[in-house]
Amino acid sequence: MNKEVRVRFAPSPTGYLHLGSFRTALFNYLFARHHGGKFILRIEDTDQSRKVEGAVENLINILNEMGLNYDEGPNVGGDFGSYFQSQRLDIYKKYCDELLTGGHAYYAFESAEELEEMRRVQQMQGKQTMYDRRARNLSETEVKEKLASGIPYVIRLKVPIDSEIRFTDLIRGNVKIDTNLVDDQVLLKSDGFPTYHLANVIDDHLMNISHIIRGEEWLTSVPKHIILYNAFGWEIPQMAHVPLILNPDKTKLSKRQGDVATEDYLKKGYLKEALLNFMALLGWNPGDGEEKEIFSKDELIELFSIERVNSAGAVFNTDKLNWMNGEYIKNYDAEKLTEIMIPFLNAGGIDTSDLAKTKRVVFAIRNYINRLDEAPEHAKVFYSSVSLGDEHKEIVNRETSNQVFTALISKIETLLEITTDNFKPVLSEVQKETGVKGKNLFMPVRIALTGEEHGPELGLIAYVLGKEEVLKRLKEIE
Ligand code: GLU
Repeated sequence: MNKEVRVRFAPSPTGYLHLGSFRTALFNYLFARHHGGKFILRIEDTDQSRKVEGAVENLINILNEMGLNYDEGPNVGGDFGSYFQSQRLDIYKKYCDELLTGGHAYYAFESAEELEEMRRVQQMQGKQTMYDRRARNLSETEVKEKLASGIPYVIRLKVPIDSEIRFTDLIRGNVKIDTNLVDDQVLLKSDGFPTYHLANVIDDHLMNISHIIRGEEWLTSVPKHIILYNAFGWEIPQMAHVPLILNPDKTKLSKRQGDVATEDYLKKGYLKEALLNFMALLGWNPGDGEEKEIFSKDELIELFSIERVNSAGAVFNTDKLNWMNGEYIKNYDAEKLTEIMIPFLNAGGIDTSDLAKTKRVVFAIRNYINRLDEAPEHAKVFYSSVSLGDEHKEIVNRETSNQVFTALISKIETLLEITTDNFKPVLSEVQKETGVKGKNLFMPVRIALTGEEHGPELGLIAYVLGKEEVLKRLKEIE
């Protein structure tokens, strides 16, 4: 790539980071890092009616938390600021004036009621609803008069008639659109704020953006943008429109169907590395025949290419995410995993003040959970005292069970401590000595130690409880 790669993530802050936006940010980030380029954060906050308190801070926090550090943008600065569109209104005004002067845009004075009536008539006639371009016919004098009398106005794009827009999208290939189907888009609203289209094009140009990577929902805006680039005489950045993220029923992933806020996934106990890995594979794959699915961020940077982004929608498969998260939990650094798991254990009412014990618990349960919020359920056997129901009482009071307990207690007493792997051999010795084996051997021990019939491996349970507690539980059982 000869031009410096400069890509941007340009969210309109809504108060949370939608998974789809997160994936867009991630693809931009991976692309920039892969090419040694720049990743820019631009806040598209010109829609005053959609302002949400704290939304920008929240967005920046979650990007940082997920490790998508940007090179230019709010808090970081850069040579192309301001990175808040609401602070660039003069720029948009200036360029809009240029469009007016060049005959690429025009004033329109219709009221909301008039526009509504226009739509109604078009609908009745079965026509596509769009601005009927009537203000294009106003004479210069008429425009001047209306402006002088203070009638509110907007500025619209003068879309070329009977023409065709062609462009090549890096993901979707060649696209061609008849300009007669393109609306004379409002560029500057009556409140003086630009619309998304105007501000977006101006900023992408002024910020030297080389590639626009964004969601497929913006594909229909491209013709308007190309008309604007041409009107200004500017070079058009390369474009890549990434496919939608879909629910398993192939509908668009939306808030109504469940959680779509990236931050909620962290709260639910997904590790950020797992979520990032999973999201990178939503619509992208590293190459034919590549079976591997677990990739670190560095590996993703190394492998990422826009050409391998699929044009079909990508289904969000929660089972796969759970599996992947489980893999990460199994292989995570033990110290860090303990640190991350503690709040989840505490939320489940587990006292983690004995850090050494907590570490053993984490070690014991990490292979059994897919999400950190499942941790308390698995950990609780190590904390609660054992109380048995009638069925379990019957099992631990069998003759064979008592033989097992007696032999086991005397063997454990000779151990210095229970380690992660010395309990199993002890059980084998007990089996040899007592002749009790299989379920008759394991079940009473499991019940005595945990009060449950299922759970982590016995060796792990004994290790977590420690020698004293294991002896206590074996001796007290009745
Ligand atoms: N502000 C738009 C959004 O909210 C940006 C779209 C684009 O990347 O051009 O997603």
